[in-house]
Amino acid sequence: MQRKIRLGFHVSMQGSVANAAQEALSNGYGTFQMFVTNPRSWAIGEINGNDSLMFKELVRKSHAMPFAHASYLCNPSSPKDDIHRKTISSLKGNMENCARLGIRYLVIHIGSHLGAGHVAALRNSAETISHVIDTTSGVELLLENSAGYTNSFGSDFKEIAKIMDEIGREKVGVCLDTCHAYAYGYDIATAAGTAALMDEIEQAVGMRSVKLVHLNDSKYQLGSHLDRHWHIGKGHIGRQGFIDFFRNMRLKTDCFVMETPEDEYGDRESDMRAALSIIEETRLGRV
Ligand SMILES: [Zn+2]
Repeated sequence: MQRKIRLGFHVSMQGSVANAAQEALSNGYGTFQMFVTNPRSWAIGEINGNDSLMFKELVRKSHAMPFAHASYLCNPSSPKDDIHRKTISSLKGNMENCARLGIRYLVIHIGSHLGAGHVAALRNSAETISHVIDTTSGVELLLENSAGYTNSFGSDFKEIAKIMDEIGREKVGVCLDTCHAYAYGYDIATAAGTAALMDEIEQAVGMRSVKLVHLNDSKYQLGSHLDRHWHIGKGHIGRQGFIDFFRNMRLKTDCFVMETPEDEYGDRESDMRAALSIIEETRLGRV
């Protein structure tokens, strides 16, 4: 039987969380991602009961799989006490909003150690994440690989595996971002590069722990360490690179969310068309 994948975008919750689900429903997305509070503020926005009911109803109608992305200010790897405290409280708030909306997975960045080093980053991130997990329930955190910018932690899957070992393997999952992986230095634009990354994921964290893929092309070259998402097929991974990626990836998840830039009206449609035409050239189908 042909394997089918779900495609969608990071969508806006501006105005009401229900708008995010409505966008997914109107455009026929099989999956989507959204923020559940203002991503640039430490304060957690409250979600009222009516909005939450409407959101759930629209998700049910759409049959789409929803994901949330945590606020940008959160930095689980920070060695600073105040950021540590604020990160814990923000992640808890993000998770509570997810629970209210029936969203099972919250994607988080592992963050920056700000020069304190990898040993401190491992200790701080594991401690922060464990604390958050132990005081909330019903929502699972997904650790996202980073592009490897200065002082960042968690750009390779062996590092992510170390955090998971500290926290408890079964307690957290993983989100693979294709742009970040490529920018870090995994050459997923080639069959051999994707095969090598899949081997590493399998050995380090296990295929089943990857619950979501952020499907993004990369504006900059392999190993640039620059986190600049680009339109599908138009960046350095390229159309053929993505075809090779899909032919060689052995991930179990069927959820692929694009976080491509939306500068002009119609960017979404053209990225979706590009992704669909790539899928059509592989053995995969679309939900
Ligand atoms: Zn991402």
